[in-house]
Amino acid sequence: MGLKMMGNAKTARNGNLIGAVGMTIAILGTIFLHEGEVSTMIYGMIFGAIALGTIIGWFTAKKVQMTKMPELVSMFNGMGGACAALISLIEYTHHQHSGEPATTGTMIAIIAGLVIGSVSFSGSIIAFLKLNGTMNKPVRLPSYNMLNNVFMLGVLLFGAFMVYSGGNMMLAYLLFAAALAYGILFTLPIGGADMPVVISLLNSFTGLAAAFGGFLYGNKVMLTGGILVGSAGTLLTLVMCKAMNRPLSNVIFGAFGAGTAGAAAGSEVKGTTKEASVSDVAVLMNYSKSVVIVPGYGLAVAQAQHVIHELEMLLEERGVSVKYAIHPVAGRMPGHMNVLLAESNVAYEKLVEMDDINPEFPNTDVVLIVGANDVVNPAAKNNPASPIYGMPILEAENAKNIIINKRSMNAGYAGIDNELFYNPKASMFFGDAKKALTELIAELKTMD
Ligand code: NDP
Repeated sequence: MGLKMMGNAKTARNGNLIGAVGMTIAILGTIFLHEGEVSTMIYGMIFGAIALGTIIGWFTAKKVQMTKMPELVSMFNGMGGACAALISLIEYTHHQHSGEPATTGTMIAIIAGLVIGSVSFSGSIIAFLKLNGTMNKPVRLPSYNMLNNVFMLGVLLFGAFMVYSGGNMMLAYLLFAAALAYGILFTLPIGGADMPVVISLLNSFTGLAAAFGGFLYGNKVMLTGGILVGSAGTLLTLVMCKAMNRPLSNVIFGAFGAGTAGAAAGSEVKGTTKEASVSDVAVLMNYSKSVVIVPGYGLAVAQAQHVIHELEMLLEERGVSVKYAIHPVAGRMPGHMNVLLAESNVAYEKLVEMDDINPEFPNTDVVLIVGANDVVNPAAKNNPASPIYGMPILEAENAKNIIINKRSMNAGYAGIDNELFYNPKASMFFGDAKKALTELIAELKTMD
């Protein structure tokens, strides 16, 4: 029910709550309907850990800024992976100490949980460090892909050997370390615009690892939860790959998203730009019939979602049709713009997806780009040397007038120049989005 309700912006919040309540019941059920004796000390440890996790999780989630959400997701995801890996290690230890050899099925679940959980944990930590800017350069060694793939194959063979031979404690720790190292190597070379795919993929890994935990314990809730996360993560990965026009095999095995390192190649654009004053923009918008707003990461940074809604209502009052063009990876997490605009009560029908809005640009009087950059960069279509070549974009360049609001000529996430800014139809409207839009609204109000 929770998942179903999350499919719609209006019911999503309640859906999330219902899901959380369901999970709480499942956890309490697992603890109290457990067969066999459980000592008070064990209960104390379980509830101590739950209390600690709840407090840390609650405060971190309350405090986090919307723009830092992907970092939080990758950190939480990493914790899930670590749990799955630790469960496997502990279960392996149990079998070693009890002298009762594990069945092949149990061994597969233990080893798969250990490997996948560890990769997910260390990979998520690297993703976290990359997203918060601590690690902002993709690391590449010569023949990186080949080395990586050989390493992955090695880990898989090592895991298979453990299942086959039963292994020993020493080898189990070695496999744990090797899987952690692979998680790091896997995420390290990836940078720039491809991070969302990686996080979603790691998320599906964590789900899979948790599902193996469910097999181990014969716990159907854990199994179902793990499968849900695994399949949702996989679906999201595929949807994002499609949005960025990258095959999944390329994500797993290929050299993808060299990001800023490869960004220099052919990305420098030469030309002149025009600057528009607040009154220029106000006049243009006041006398237009249709305006399409393209929101991007900068809108979230400036927290200008309320101001932009006010601008939209003001224009609509004057008979201007206003729509928002939503790129699937605008901002820093999937659905970022939808969440942001829902916060300021923008009607959901006003948010138009990329494929539906693109044919409308030639009939649009003004496209107002607010804090977006990569998602409107025509290099994705015209420049095969560009690191974002092949990513579908919002074709804002087809509108009759293009206004771009950002603070400077600086690049966006992928670190590349944007030829749209030099388009003869384009004008730069410099300034922090919240400040600039507030001034624009004030100017429009003087034009009654
Ligand atoms: P970009 O990161 O390409 O560009 C954002 C622009 O906003 C910058 O050029 C910046 O320019 C401007 N900006 C920053 N702060 C402000 C402010 N206060 N006021 C006005 N402008 C501001 O964003 P897009 O949304 O276009 O593209 C998203 C990028 O992030 C894509 O490359 C995508 O692949 C990637 N990505 C997406 C994720 C997702 O799931 N959505 C996750 C991770 C990455 P200036 O500094 O000059 O103001």
